[in-house]
Amino acid sequence: METFNKNNGLCSSCGLCSIHTWPVEQSVKSCVFNNGWLGEREKKLFGRERSLSDPVEMRFGITLDRVTAQLKKPVAGAQWSGIVTHMAVRAFEEKLVEGVVSLQHTPGHHFFSQPLLARNSDEIYSTRGNKPVLSPVLYSLESAYRHGMKKILVIGAACHLHTLRDFQERFDYLSEMEILTIGIPCVDNVARSKWPWILERMSQSPDTACHLEFMQDFRIHIRHNDGRVEKIPFFSLPEELSDPSIFPPACMSCFDYLNSLADITVGYIGARLLPEQKRQWLLVRTETGRKLLNLIKTELEYFPESGKWECSSFVKNTSKRIIESMKGVNKEYATTRKIPLWLGQMLAGLLAMIGPKGIGFAHYSVDFHLIRHYYYVKFRSPEQLDKLVPKHVRVILTEYGLPL
Ligand SMILES: Cc1cc2nc3c(=O)[nH]c(=O)nc-3n(C[C@H](O)[C@H](O)[C@H](O)COP(=O)(O)OP(=O)(O)OC[C@H]3O[C@@H](n4cnc5c(N)ncnc54)[C@H](O)[C@@H]3O)c2cc1C
Ligand code: SF4
Ligand code: SF4
Repeated sequence: METFNKNNGLCSSCGLCSIHTWPVEQSVKSCVFNNGWLGEREKKLFGRERSLSDPVEMRFGITLDRVTAQLKKPVAGAQWSGIVTHMAVRAFEEKLVEGVVSLQHTPGHHFFSQPLLARNSDEIYSTRGNKPVLSPVLYSLESAYRHGMKKILVIGAACHLHTLRDFQERFDYLSEMEILTIGIPCVDNVARSKWPWILERMSQSPDTACHLEFMQDFRIHIRHNDGRVEKIPFFSLPEELSDPSIFPPACMSCFDYLNSLADITVGYIGARLLPEQKRQWLLVRTETGRKLLNLIKTELEYFPESGKWECSSFVKNTSKRIIESMKGVNKEYATTRKIPLWLGQMLAGLLAMIGPKGIGFAHYSVDFHLIRHYYYVKFRSPEQLDKLVPKHVRVILTEYGLPL
């Protein structure tokens, strides 16, 4: 899949520039890395930007409702309980949409993706599961346009939905289409050329790995073909995985972890992690999002939101280290583990007990990443700061007393 390396090299390979039905220059005009995150886009969708005096809205974005739930009958093979996939199937069955713009796994590869315009329930079902690599979701807009579809659902990460919303408004091609959106939270995505190298350094058995997630218990969970789950504490990863250059510059310049322009964001990060459960955390942002949730509301088991909001001491303890690690342009990284596995397991166990949980963990994770990304951009391309960084990021940095 062709990518377009504009915007000072920032490109998340969202798929729009691979479309040939309209000029690539038009696609690039709508690119989030050209236009920046949130700001006017958020205002156009909600009639206002997020409040800079509301600490929750600054982190989670504008919402109508937050819901913690899981499907009573989980979708086999989905990333979590499969709320995204089931919601998409129900939207199609109820004729809210004629097709779903999403991704399939590349045949024979658990982690790689290929774009798909799903046009029946089986095809929608085949889009389930994560593909932890940059993915050309928007490429299938071309097929939807050529088929003359009038109502579609797009499932994507924040870069997809920013660029999509801008393109739909800026140009005529999709202006007649009603586009519903389901967003996934997204962070630490990787380029597929780097994926084998990264997986080999995370897992003791990369060839059998089929499912991977960064979890709220401070460990990476890697499921293998035989059902075994390998749990690696973040603290015991090889030091070379701390090198910011293993992530695409686009993802290190990303400031919308929780996908604030989606009609509904479906993640897990603010839900409690409990054995044998697949609780998910949903941010309903628009009336369309509410309509999508209503399609499956009787099939969900609900839970109260959990955890304490406060996590500032935890963020403060790590912020100095994050800033230092972002300074290290061209630094050499060791191939050895940061700390031994047994010690990492103890530390992860301790932090899972005393550290932030539920919405506190979501708060911590959002702040950690926005601090990391602010300084990544500041130390590498300070001239991009004004364009890329949304206003709330500076307010949050100031809350922690961090230099701008
Ligand atoms: C790189 C990455 C990082 C993530 N980090 C977090 C996180 O930190 N916190 C959190 O709460 N959630 C995160 N998620 C989202 C989370 O893993 C689940 O996708 C989400 O909770 C939905 O679960 P589900 O069972 O409803 O999904 P499913 O029903 O399995 O559906 C998942 C949908 O997401 C689509 N998808 C998968 N990979 C991509 C991709 N690369 N780009 C665009 N669309 C994709 C699939 O095609 C499918 O339509 C991340 C996802 C990715 C890809
Ligand atoms: S992120 Fe998408 S719109 Fe932007 S340059 Fe890359 S392919 Fe084009
Ligand atoms: S981290 Fe951000 S830029 Fe990268 S794929 Fe996810 S949403 Fe897009």
